[in-house]
Amino acid sequence: IGLTFIIHSCSDQKKHSKTIKSPYTSQIDSLMNLMTLEEKIGQTVMYSGGWDKTGPKVSDDNIKHIREGNVGAMLNVYSAKGTRELQQIAIEETRLGIPLLFGYDVIHGHRTIFPINLGLAASWDLKQIENSARIAAEEASAEGIHWTFAPMVDIARDPRWGRISEGAGEDTYLGSQIAKAYVKGFQGNDLAANNTIIACAKHFAGYGAAQAGRDYHTVDMSDGELWNTYLPPFKATVDSGVETFMTAFNDLNGIPASGNQSLFREILREQWNFKGFVVSDYTAINELIPHGFAKNEKDGARLAMNAGVDMDMMGNVNRLYLKKLIEENKVKKETVEEACRKILETKFKLGLFDDPYRYSNEDREKEVIYKKEFLDAARNAAAASSVLLKNDNKTLPITKNKTIALIGPLAKDKESIIGNWAAAGDRYGKAVSIYEGLLEYVDEKNIFYAQGCDILSNDENLFNQAIDAAKKADIIVMVMGEHYHMSGEAASRTNIKLPGLQTTLIKKITEEVPNKQIVLILMNGRPLDLSEEHILTDAILETWFPGTMGGLGIADILFGTYNPSGKLPVTFPRNVGQIPIYYNMKNTGRPINPSNPKEDYKSNYIDVSNTPLYPFGYGLSYTNFEYKVTSSGKQLIPGEEITISVEIKNTGNYDGSEIAQLYIRDKTRSITPPVKELKGFKKVFMKKGESTNLTFTITTENLKFYNQQLDFTYEPGRFEFFVGGSSDLPFTHEFELIEEDK
Ligand code: BGC
Repeated sequence: IGLTFIIHSCSDQKKHSKTIKSPYTSQIDSLMNLMTLEEKIGQTVMYSGGWDKTGPKVSDDNIKHIREGNVGAMLNVYSAKGTRELQQIAIEETRLGIPLLFGYDVIHGHRTIFPINLGLAASWDLKQIENSARIAAEEASAEGIHWTFAPMVDIARDPRWGRISEGAGEDTYLGSQIAKAYVKGFQGNDLAANNTIIACAKHFAGYGAAQAGRDYHTVDMSDGELWNTYLPPFKATVDSGVETFMTAFNDLNGIPASGNQSLFREILREQWNFKGFVVSDYTAINELIPHGFAKNEKDGARLAMNAGVDMDMMGNVNRLYLKKLIEENKVKKETVEEACRKILETKFKLGLFDDPYRYSNEDREKEVIYKKEFLDAARNAAAASSVLLKNDNKTLPITKNKTIALIGPLAKDKESIIGNWAAAGDRYGKAVSIYEGLLEYVDEKNIFYAQGCDILSNDENLFNQAIDAAKKADIIVMVMGEHYHMSGEAASRTNIKLPGLQTTLIKKITEEVPNKQIVLILMNGRPLDLSEEHILTDAILETWFPGTMGGLGIADILFGTYNPSGKLPVTFPRNVGQIPIYYNMKNTGRPINPSNPKEDYKSNYIDVSNTPLYPFGYGLSYTNFEYKVTSSGKQLIPGEEITISVEIKNTGNYDGSEIAQLYIRDKTRSITPPVKELKGFKKVFMKKGESTNLTFTITTENLKFYNQQLDFTYEPGRFEFFVGGSSDLPFTHEFELIEEDK
């Protein structure tokens, strides 16, 4: 008899009707009735498998626990065959046959790899981002994956932090829009469809604000900062129906996030009404001990479960200690049952009780993985995510008849181009290098390749080859950056310059081969200090780690098939000492006077300016855009709106897209305001010579913030705004928000 039958035929449903009211309540009640306490605890346990070429590798120990009904979910197991085989054990060999949930880090693509998330954010293209998640879900679901540990919606303002590469950058508004796009893309409209996967908003909360950019480090911030800057993208995912949340590793204001009751019970569940389940980060419950918060693992299990952490990822503490904690009355049985119910409910929503194998489909796997349409989308995304940081004298695009010296450790690379968190992506077979991408546009004999140097070693042996190549060619294209291991988890840096001898090689080439144009193509997972490169080169294209089709997407830009339109989702500092630096910092009592920036006793440095090298929102195009902005009025009455009309004209010689950005400044309020805040953006395509008309509206909704009492509200007063193609432009308009008639 199938489990479904048992559930439906169980009569004793009413007495367990619990707090969760959902279409599945009675089925969950019936199932819970059949489960022992150990089995209920088992649902809150997740273990990790491994993988090699022959299939999933799950330890004998884990298989034993699965058989005993003590495991609810597995991570790091994929492929239709692998997941099916493991699922079969859960279905056929356990007492109740409850299906396993398979989770995996599907972060920026699954097999077809898109640019890293910071890169995707640079596209400011919500449809494109949603589509990348949709494609990832198509591929992952066919391999039996039900659940992705994405999106990472941590706001990050410190480029030293390696995980800045996994998020949407420094801005709360942009980050919130992007967070919603990912959830929509992964989860689709119907969780029961077998090509959608549940999303997981991570890492709740504050992880991006690790002190000194060191991964896992302490986070200590005011409530105002937490609520106005770090929490909104998480709230946005709840509003979009995200099914799960993950805890953060860090200590947040003295209470580690993975044992933080206020975060999970008060904010997430009570205030935001989140109905899904919460998973700990990898062994994060155990880490409550070194944090100095839990006395031992058992104490950790108590703290986390009571804080509202429903599932334990890899920590093994729930399985070992929850039963005892219940017996000792340190954790209520109902708390564990509630966690179990939520996990079961997700499995019901996914349709796993109807057909536990519906995701693990070898035919669909063959059909969808690396589908042409997915690869095309990845190529387009690589181009759309690239940001042109510099282009003196129209160095780019390159005309096809030129000979090219292609130099640099990443020019032929197929490993780093994929970025981190892409273990299922084929780094060598499928990835298209920059060199290969170029071959689509230029004859092989017109490319003089030289590696020039290694990313990490300090060996100058290869310099001469590079100089020879540079001498022979019409134009020099250097492909440099970080190794993909240099960003992502546990990859913080204190030095954010190009590693190794890469900058030295650029310098050498400018000396030995003067008067030749140099294009620098960058791959990196964080903002770098490019102050030297900015002076040494003629053009700089930031491509992040552009993914499987990176080489082609970038070649499309280099040869003008694609006009770059990406804008920075994060500030590039002039040097590491400026960090933290972001566009929406606050003013001091001693702001710099722009007409006399060197004036004494102002809030500045004596050795470097306060401005970044490249600001948030910045990015060049092969064409030019001219803005004409008019506003419908100078007064805003609550309940009404101000309409901003924007005419943008493409006045240059290329068709292209522009990302028009609306920034507003609240001049005075009861907690000090940032100097400006992004409040809207639109990406528009215009043929050369064409104009477009856009409208933005300002209502009190755009002017709200969390005040001292943490009410989300607005305050009357004066505001300024501008609309343009970067964050560092002057304000052009102002208005007053009038007091409401009481
Ligand atoms: C990371 C998470 C990730 C998890 C599972 C952790 O180390 O912090 O972001 O989802 O591992 O791989």
